Amino acid sequence: MLATCPGTQKEDKNETARLRMVETQIEARGISDAATLRAMRKVPRHIFVPASQASEAYSDRPLPIGYSQTISQPFIVAYMTELVRPAKGKKALEIGTGSGYQAAVLAEIVDTVYTIEIVPELARESATRLKLLGYQNIIVKYGDGYKGWPEHSPFDIIIVTAAADHIPQPLKDQLAEGGKLVMPVGDPATVQQLIVLTKRKGKITEQRLEPVRFVPLKRLK
Ligand code: SAH
Repeated sequence: MLATCPGTQKEDKNETARLRMVETQIEARGISDAATLRAMRKVPRHIFVPASQASEAYSDRPLPIGYSQTISQPFIVAYMTELVRPAKGKKALEIGTGSGYQAAVLAEIVDTVYTIEIVPELARESATRLKLLGYQNIIVKYGDGYKGWPEHSPFDIIIVTAAADHIPQPLKDQLAEGGKLVMPVGDPATVQQLIVLTKRKGKITEQRLEPVRFVPLKRLK
């Protein structure tokens, strides 16, 4: 019998943990969108967390990624992904690249993901990581996402992964017809509510969903 190399065994272990994560934390809690589940089964979350946290990569919680920031709990990533109805042919904007994990999950489904990160080191690290993983349809930019990315608008999907007390007007303006935006809105220091906006015939409707906790949306001075 051939001996398997240690790297392969480790990869198998991560894949087993990832499939279990999707089954017990995500499908069991009602996420049913096939594309979202497929993406969550595929993206190697352990590559997106610091080496010191790798053994916790598939646990049911957010994890620190440095610079006082966090990678969201896997369920929240799946939930927000399903809410914005990702599909082939769509263009997405993410505010708050962080580790790049949410961007990678979206990029498995949609055509292009534009993502903006305000911590320069995180923007640089994520761009490198996503490139190494072979994602050619993710464009990372350092900057303040409050103003969106007008040059590439309108977007079918806008995901904001940091909290504020209101939804930035530029993001509402950059939402495409039929598009969906999801963002945690409320007191950035305590608890927020997940809000989904849908633009139809130029008019925006709002849905208020679960209570959530995200790190605050910062502004460049
Ligand atoms: N989506 C990330 C997790 C986001 S944590 C992931 O999958 O790992 C929130 C991120 O938003 C942090 O990295 C923080 O630095 C960033 N952020 C905060 N305010 C921002 C702003 N105004 N523009 C862009 N990024 C911002």
